[in-house]
Amino acid sequence: MMTPTLPAATGFLVSARQGVGRAPGPVFATMGAHESVAEALRTQTLDAVLVHSGSAEDAVARFGDTALVLAGELYNREELLTLLPSGSDVRTDAQLVLALLGVYDLHAFRLLNGRFAAAAALGNRVLLATDHAGSVPLYTLPAPGRVLAATEIKALVPSTADTPPAGRPVADAPRVRRVPGVHQVPAGTVLDLDVRTGTAVTSRTWAPPLSRRVMSEAEATAAVRTTLERAVRARTAGGTTPLVVLSGGIDSSGVAALAAAHTHGPLDTLSMGTETADEFAEARVVAGHLGSAHREITVPTADLLGQLPYAVWASESVDPDIIEYLLPLTALYRALDGPPRRILTGYGADIPLAGMHREDRLPQLDTAVAYDMATFDGLNEMTPVLSGIQGHWSTHPYWDRDVLDLLVSLEAGLKRRYGRDKWVLREAMSALLPQETVNRPKLGVHEGSGTTSSFSLLLMDAGVPDADVHRAKSLVVREIFDRVVVEGLDPAVVSTTDAVDQVAARLKETE
Ligand code: ATP
Ligand code: MG
Ligand code: MG
Ligand code: MG
Repeated sequence: MMTPTLPAATGFLVSARQGVGRAPGPVFATMGAHESVAEALRTQTLDAVLVHSGSAEDAVARFGDTALVLAGELYNREELLTLLPSGSDVRTDAQLVLALLGVYDLHAFRLLNGRFAAAAALGNRVLLATDHAGSVPLYTLPAPGRVLAATEIKALVPSTADTPPAGRPVADAPRVRRVPGVHQVPAGTVLDLDVRTGTAVTSRTWAPPLSRRVMSEAEATAAVRTTLERAVRARTAGGTTPLVVLSGGIDSSGVAALAAAHTHGPLDTLSMGTETADEFAEARVVAGHLGSAHREITVPTADLLGQLPYAVWASESVDPDIIEYLLPLTALYRALDGPPRRILTGYGADIPLAGMHREDRLPQLDTAVAYDMATFDGLNEMTPVLSGIQGHWSTHPYWDRDVLDLLVSLEAGLKRRYGRDKWVLREAMSALLPQETVNRPKLGVHEGSGTTSSFSLLLMDAGVPDADVHRAKSLVVREIFDRVVVEGLDPAVVSTTDAVDQVAARLKETE
């Protein structure tokens, strides 16, 4: 099985129902053609709208009384295939998951290493599953007789013409802000719903490791190198030239180096900056070393801040810190016109490695790792919709299931060592990159692009006192979320400065 540029589907809306009924009109931020499919099973009908770029049929699988739709892709196909009888007729990832469901039922989802959301209908059951990290967000609106699910909240917001079904509560699944009845399927989870009643039973299929492994320096660096290499390879197999979004920091430079080593063919790299700040010089060092075809995009700061509605529309996140990380990438992806690309990032390495932790004490470091791994769910930091709004597919090797399991579980002294952050990663990559890149201190994307400081400045210029800036950012993000997700407005007609002025005025009133 080859990896195409884009997965067969990059999003879906499904409606599983007993009686008659109409699926809501599909609304997605993800760019792509829409394909409707209807699978009539013995006791229920599964209607789906798939967002795709040409091979929607590959995202649907049907066998007997089971139908499945899959948005996204798998990274451990070869090992999964060994679980099926030899000669099994499996060509697509959807067929592979369906075949595994036949053998393992919902426990099939415990076997998968991938970036996906899936919905399956069988008997009176509807299974809704996320990958280990919930990296493709999945939402549901379950009601007696009809279960709706979609990879974007906005697809589940009832239109005024459509009476919303009385939603059923879902234990352990958080509700979505201001959209009644809609819940987010947690990371690493299968919801097993009964379509007759709309009730759900939750099964976790993955949890972040809580224990820590003791390894020698040599063992740990070799394990990191091998595991990350495999993750990059699984994401670059196939004929298409990968594109690495490159800052010149160790995380993205490591991915670029492994992609260059693996593909032996052309590699494209891309850096963004603003007129306030950029990391162009640092990225150029890496691109020169690897011989990649490198491109720089400068986004004016005013444009960057103006794209806040797009970042919220795509990520459907209300966390102001996450939005600051995602905003520069949103602007970068939107500026990347042309045919759909397969994009690799260095995103997420800092979470298991505590890269943001700028001091030497190990207890504090491991506290940060444990806390971040316990609280990442629902932030949608890894969502493919961010690049999907421009028709691209993004994937994050550091959050590959095997890489993440390894990085989280390394004992803290391998992460911070000899006064260096992310020591084990730097050491693992040291033969592949220039020394100045290996030794470069961590700089967050929100810092390197000046995003945090220019957003703060915008609020202070609107009269928000220094001490209220962070709270004001949170209010601005919520305000925008209510416009582009809850009310379904086009982000092009929602203005950042209007939201900022509104929030500033509201804060003044409550002084
Ligand atoms: P480090 O965390 O050590 O700074 P990094 O820059 O690669 O390494 P982050 O700063 O955490 O990682 O940024 C997350 C990811 O976002 C990067 O790995 C890279 O893929 C992407 N990214 C960040 N800044 C830029 C940029 N200026 N241009 C292009 N991509 C970027
Ligand atoms: Mg990083
Ligand atoms: Mg980071
Ligand atoms: Mg960085």
